[in-house]
Amino acid sequence: MKIGCPKEIKPQEFRVGMTPNAAHEAVRNGHDVYIETNAGMGAGFTDADYVAAGAKILGTAKEVFDTADMIVKVKEPQAGERKMLREGQILFTYLHLAPDPEQTHDLLKSGATCIAYETVTDRMGGLPLLAPMSEVAGRLAPQVGAWTLQKANGGRGVLLGGVPGVSPAKVLVIGGGVVGTHAAKIAAGMGADVTVLDRSIPRLRYLDDVFGGSFKNAYASAGNTIELARQADMIIGAVLIPGAAAPKLISRAQLSELKPGAALVDVAIDQGGCFETSRATTHQDPIYEVDGIMHYCVANMPGAVARTSTLALGNATMPFMLALANKGWKQACADDVHLLNGLNVHAGKLTYAAVGEALGLPT
Ligand code: NAD
Repeated sequence: MKIGCPKEIKPQEFRVGMTPNAAHEAVRNGHDVYIETNAGMGAGFTDADYVAAGAKILGTAKEVFDTADMIVKVKEPQAGERKMLREGQILFTYLHLAPDPEQTHDLLKSGATCIAYETVTDRMGGLPLLAPMSEVAGRLAPQVGAWTLQKANGGRGVLLGGVPGVSPAKVLVIGGGVVGTHAAKIAAGMGADVTVLDRSIPRLRYLDDVFGGSFKNAYASAGNTIELARQADMIIGAVLIPGAAAPKLISRAQLSELKPGAALVDVAIDQGGCFETSRATTHQDPIYEVDGIMHYCVANMPGAVARTSTLALGNATMPFMLALANKGWKQACADDVHLLNGLNVHAGKLTYAAVGEALGLPT
């Protein structure tokens, strides 16, 4: 199969759909790989790295789209890219179609077969192509929160780990899923005094069994949440209710009860945020203040560490990409229901029920 990887063109997107290692695996499996020139630069991969892996470099995105049987990307195709898709071509990337009728319409019109990273599943009921980005955002959260807590950035001027004779900062993580667990691990590793709140008792049991010695956990009742929030120097929002907007767990009125200069890191901002005063920010201007409380609400946190994110995403997508290339999409999806769950659009038809429901379109 001819596999193509164009340079990402969405603003501030530095990741790339295929790493040189992924290209090498595809070539080893007998496929031709075409990479748009400079596609990997944002993640630190040169054209020479791809050539060494056996790939060929093409000068424009158009050449990549025209040549390839399958396009592997990171972000949903932008309007110009959608025009280059053609009937029978496979598109393997994040799509997030439910809130995006325009993109859905264009993909249906293209006749391409579109497999969305975010709806591919695994045997444990997880989302294996979303999890790596949650791991990245979770591990990044205490790092950006620690920076936000610095005096020059408007924070309380508290060092996460304290020093001998001075207590460490208190970090409250709300939501103990993938983001929350990774955030708590790193905050505890930086020496902070960490508590994780969750509404799932089985999850609290798991956290207690595995991490009981490193951080505490508590049930996420409204009472526990505000009591622990009052004591916290940093609060990390990491909740998710699948398919729904994030619940608002700290109101504007409650900000006056928090420590002045505390840092709120709202990782759940991509689902609307879990603090009433959260609004999405960018890497250029990531923090703002409301009632003396600092907010960090960047909606695409993994973009800050594009190289790590690209490598993590590449590891997770590689087996699916190889299955699609080796078997063709039909056989690969017939053999693996989890990959089939990723199929959102095929030959002008919507094939994913939740997207159809959200957009009022037939599936
Ligand atoms: P997850 O499903 O693994 O974990 C969510 C956890 O929240 C679950 O354990 C659930 O029981 C818990 N929860 C739900 N409602 C709660 C409540 N009211 N109080 C306490 N806990 C509650 O999800 P995840 O992968 O960890 O993702 C968390 C959030 O981070 C999502 O909104 C996701 O979209 C977002 N995210 C953002 C970025 C970014 O760049 N900003 C990157 C990755 C993920």
